[in-house]
Amino acid sequence: MSTTERDAPDMATAEKFKVLSAILRASDEDDESIEARLVNDDEADEEGNPKPFVIVSNWEALSVINDKLNAALAPEAWKGWRIVYIAVDKDAGGRTGGPFADMRLSGSTSDTPCAPTEGPSPYLVPEGLFAIDSFATTGFDDEHDVCSGCNTVVRTSPDSYGWQPRFHRHSDGDVSCAKCLDAPDYLDAHTNKNRMLNDGLVNPADHGWTKVDVDFENGLHPGQNDDPRAIMKTLQDIGLDVLFTGERGQFDTRFAPWVRWDEAMGNGTAPESCSLCDENGTNETFEWDTDDKGWVCDSCGGTTMTETRDPAVAAKEALEKGTTKLPYDPGTETAKALRGEHSDYVKMTVTTITPEQFVSGEWTKGEKK
Ligand SMILES: [Zn+2]
Ligand SMILES: [Zn+2]
Repeated sequence: MSTTERDAPDMATAEKFKVLSAILRASDEDDESIEARLVNDDEADEEGNPKPFVIVSNWEALSVINDKLNAALAPEAWKGWRIVYIAVDKDAGGRTGGPFADMRLSGSTSDTPCAPTEGPSPYLVPEGLFAIDSFATTGFDDEHDVCSGCNTVVRTSPDSYGWQPRFHRHSDGDVSCAKCLDAPDYLDAHTNKNRMLNDGLVNPADHGWTKVDVDFENGLHPGQNDDPRAIMKTLQDIGLDVLFTGERGQFDTRFAPWVRWDEAMGNGTAPESCSLCDENGTNETFEWDTDDKGWVCDSCGGTTMTETRDPAVAAKEALEKGTTKLPYDPGTETAKALRGEHSDYVKMTVTTITPEQFVSGEWTKGEKK
């Protein structure tokens, strides 16, 4: 027997979903510890139908699915190879997790199987067997989640340096993909909040926001002490709504504000005087009328219209005059704390952790502010 994987079955997308759904149901009935979920791939086939994606919790689940798939669709090859895999698995101390956990049997034949992972790459699936890969894309559940709107898989853990999430996790834990995300809701949740909006999901420019042409930095390099809270306050003080977009580096964040006039606070320009009673204009003598989009005179109650000022220009002016920085330098203060010197701003706690805690990553959680 040679080690050539059986050709991908000539099956329509809908048919693949049907076959996989039956296999997954049977696996679940057989063994409750098998966790596998059939969802939509975020890529579509030639006809625009979503492709199947199977999310599993471990190799064991893949093994059971591959086993059942071959028992159903390739019974002859299944009978022949299953015995070989069981023997190999036993030889290898059970590390393949079952007959078809990892279908690679490089360079092996039914007479002389070699242990999985021992042969040279590329590993080939033995002749006559199907791998689940010819039916679906697969991934593990600690790296993937599912959009509650359209049942499409989203990657939740970085797979490259410049990775940006293409989903939003709501406060109740539900996940929305970029397509299903309610943009106005998402923008609201980030308006006047000290948190960064992912502009790969929603472009604020499409929703009446203007980006301010400034670059702010906060991080551990000296001088990176721009403070989003201070920036937000400076902008809100002149009647602007604020949200932030930017990029996270390893040790710092670069960000910029987006602004629009706060509905309740006016259009940025109080009139110079009231056209009806000659009252001199300041924001104190005129009140903004949200419905009429005009300024109502406190003395006579008449309304004066003014042109809306470019919020980004007003923002830049305010930022040049107002506070935008922390009262200290995070990099300098952190360095002091690390040297064991006193810092008024950065406190350091020393904790010893076990190698197991280090590997689990748990030690980085819970300490963050
Ligand atoms: Zn979706
Ligand atoms: Zn007046």
